[in-house]
Amino acid sequence: MHKNLFAILLLITLPLMGQTKKTVTKAKAPTAKQIHNSALIIDTHADTTQRLLDENFDMAKPPAGDNGYVDFQKAKAGNLGAEFFSIWVEPKQWKGQYAHRTLALIDAVYQQAAKHPDQMMMAFSTADILKAHQQHKLAALMGIEGGHSIENELGLLRDYYQLGVRYMTLTWSNSNEWADSSGDLDDSNVQHHNGLTEFGKDVVYEMNRLGMMVDISHVSDRTFYNALLASRAPVIASHSSARALTNHPRNMTDDMLRAVARNGGVVMVNFYSAFVDENYRQQYDAMKKEREAALKEVEEKYKDADPATRYRENDKASKEWAAKIPRPPFKSLVDHIDHVAKVAGIDHVGLGSDFDGIPSSPEGMDSAADLPKITQALVERGYNQTQIHKILGGNFMRVFAEVERVSRQLRAQERRPSLVKPAGNQSSPDTKKPKAQGAAAGR
Ligand SMILES: [Zn+2]
Repeated sequence: MHKNLFAILLLITLPLMGQTKKTVTKAKAPTAKQIHNSALIIDTHADTTQRLLDENFDMAKPPAGDNGYVDFQKAKAGNLGAEFFSIWVEPKQWKGQYAHRTLALIDAVYQQAAKHPDQMMMAFSTADILKAHQQHKLAALMGIEGGHSIENELGLLRDYYQLGVRYMTLTWSNSNEWADSSGDLDDSNVQHHNGLTEFGKDVVYEMNRLGMMVDISHVSDRTFYNALLASRAPVIASHSSARALTNHPRNMTDDMLRAVARNGGVVMVNFYSAFVDENYRQQYDAMKKEREAALKEVEEKYKDADPATRYRENDKASKEWAAKIPRPPFKSLVDHIDHVAKVAGIDHVGLGSDFDGIPSSPEGMDSAADLPKITQALVERGYNQTQIHKILGGNFMRVFAEVERVSRQLRAQERRPSLVKPAGNQSSPDTKKPKAQGAAAGR
């Protein structure tokens, strides 16, 4: 370089360098509040849907003294950007009417969005979530909780996708005809399959093809590993915590956490006291027999009551039983987030509160309005803005986008038959249902 030019460059860059240095030393690390308010926050599981349908709950006008976890005001206070409304069909109560109840719950979410277009927007994609966020509206998404909702029909699965459902837990606490749950493995009256059946694998394929996230919360460990092998897209656990800290079969072992990381998926931590605190879990478990008998009595008593009374009385009773044990400290919840972040990695953890589906949550976590406390606690534990934004929603967005990409790819392959494996390669003798690939054409 020419000597003079070098000197000129030095003259130009030196003051600039000085300035940069100054701004760097001057710039303060963002506060927890700034980190929280600049994040896109996504919660992947709330059971508020039953309140919408059975209680005729209005998210803009909660009754005085309402102790629910989610309404518009609480969501706003917590800067909640997107909520997955759970479409959960109680399998005993609704036996023979699973699809009926599923559709009624889906409608309840749409009705709420229609009633409050200024506050809530139905969202079906990553692009929709961003759009709602830009408009300062709550993005409302739907996830089915329990594969029994499809009544063993891939056609119903496709219908639910068309209606906007974007994830499905392969099971709820009940095993179905094609997947085992963690909730009834010890029940010898239930027929189990040692994981996922061949039809179950077809369900997973069809979900991949449609662009519906495969959700492994609630499934048995065996179903979990089978689903991971079967899925062509990353999976999610929409509301599951860590078993190494709280020994509940609903929680995930460290090996499962690492498997989700290898799969590129995400584990959304559940806030339920019995899933995040070992002390609480043990005490709660010790009361099981007594509690279940008492709750059954309440259920019987109100079984013919109107849906609102029925919902309210059952909810009240289960909360009263849960309150017999002191709430765990807030720290227990943060420990789980921290654990999943360390074992699975910072790219594989998120939030799946289970709001309005749990009778107890840790001290200080009373509703969506308390979400900023999570950010505060993570800052105190040394997490930086980038990492916290991943936990609050970034990781989930990455996985959802990848599921959308795999769906586009699989649909494109179907349009080019030469790339589709011959059907014979995948068929198996015990499959009664049509194969997903053939059956799926055109939808
Ligand atoms: Zn659940």
